[in-house]
Amino acid sequence: MDLKLNDKVALVMAASRGLGRASALALAREGVQVCITARDEAILAQTASELRAETGSKVMAVRADAAESADLINAFEQTVQTLGPVDILVNNAGGPPPGKFVEMDDDAWFKAFTLNFMSAVRLCQLVLPDMCERGWGRIINITSIGVKQPLPDLILSNAVRTGLVAMAKTLSAQVAEFGVTVNNICPGYTLTDRIKALAESKARASQRTPEEVIREMEASILMGRMGTPSEFGALVAYLASEQASYITGASLPFDGGSYQGLM
Ligand code: NAD
Repeated sequence: MDLKLNDKVALVMAASRGLGRASALALAREGVQVCITARDEAILAQTASELRAETGSKVMAVRADAAESADLINAFEQTVQTLGPVDILVNNAGGPPPGKFVEMDDDAWFKAFTLNFMSAVRLCQLVLPDMCERGWGRIINITSIGVKQPLPDLILSNAVRTGLVAMAKTLSAQVAEFGVTVNNICPGYTLTDRIKALAESKARASQRTPEEVIREMEASILMGRMGTPSEFGALVAYLASEQASYITGASLPFDGGSYQGLM
């Protein structure tokens, strides 16, 4: 299926690795010109060159900490200057730390809010005027299945990401008339390097192998396995496509059926 994305411009946040990288790769494969951002310049440059080699698409990289407003403005402006107005925005950032309510002080709450909520708000503020004027746009927020069913000890993530989903749903109603869609993807376990590292550290702590830890994590997934970054990227590319123009305000689980609720 031709997703009709050739020569569109995407800004993909936190994309040197993992789900952000997979999103950028899937879009670049569809002929999208992509700007990727992350904090580590060297890894970012390496990822950009891999994506260029793998897809033949134009891929640029801008160092940006998603928690820093000035970095977001710079990434946006550089994308527009080099590639043109942003058609597709993929909001993503590292997850906030785990922990119990009693362990979280004001600083931890504000950091999570800035990183996982305000980064998306600020980028929407930047890209929306042009999207609305041009009558086409796609905003895709990478959240977590925790917005459907709170995950144990991820109190910051559960709370802040749910706020983002509510913001996105409200925003979707305000920009639909301009041909702009706003959707959330809610990943469950997806086998990125971060999950592999998590399995390795759990394995060391419990004298098990990483494979045993991963099998334990997979026990709650109906499909019996974790999602792959490439399956995730395919969903991002579809939501960005012309064909997905009737899907907005949605929060789509990407979790192999681990969430059992109706909505
Ligand atoms: P990852 O650690 O593999 O990749 C995270 C990316 O974010 C990296 O490129 C990193 O450099 C970048 N990053 C981190 N903090 C940043 C910041 N402050 N500014 C800019 N870039 C930053 O993680 P992932 O598995 O790809 O997860 C991506 C997001 O999805 C995270 O918020 C994570 O909590 C969430 N999530 C992941 C899963 C999963 O199973 N992989 C499940 C649910 C939710």
